[in-house]
Amino acid sequence: MERWSGFFDLGTSDKPQPVTVRVVMNKQPVRKPFRIRVKPFFLIPAHVISPFYRRIWGFFRSGQIESMGLNWTPTQTGTMIIPAYTNPTVIKAVAAHEMGHILGLGDAYGAFYRYYYAAPGTDAYMMHSNRQVQPQEIRMMIAAHKSGRMQYFPKSWQTGRFLTGLAQDIRQLCHQIRRLAGARKKPRP
Ligand SMILES: [Zn+2]
Repeated sequence: MERWSGFFDLGTSDKPQPVTVRVVMNKQPVRKPFRIRVKPFFLIPAHVISPFYRRIWGFFRSGQIESMGLNWTPTQTGTMIIPAYTNPTVIKAVAAHEMGHILGLGDAYGAFYRYYYAAPGTDAYMMHSNRQVQPQEIRMMIAAHKSGRMQYFPKSWQTGRFLTGLAQDIRQLCHQIRRLAGARKKPRP
């Protein structure tokens, strides 16, 4: 949460000067606490997920494939799932990115549900590269909490890009499964 707080130049008409943003977790009934689960396996990357029943109608509510996993509202922020990484720098960066989903933002990088299209100009964004929260992301966070709707980065469809991305994802998944299978066999004589 500390990465989402700080001094930001929002540049909006009602806030032309840089402002200090402080993200705090309010107690009920304003906002509910959220769960963080640490999973021992690395096959599935970190994500924020809604309970199963909420996932069914997520797509119909927003028209976004992304909401079939996380059907976000300010009071139903989902559960943060983090693989059991051992590197503290990685944990901090990943948790700060996932916090963005808890705060109501979609991904900006070329994920499967974005048809492998990275939102232009977002390379340094928290929701793209886990690097640094940008003023635009703060504006989106405020918009999400004002409207009660998750804020998504623009996406675009291109068949070639989608197929290349999909093939790469499948190759990577196969590689990870082989590695896990290999690691499991080792201890046996
Ligand atoms: Zn994400």
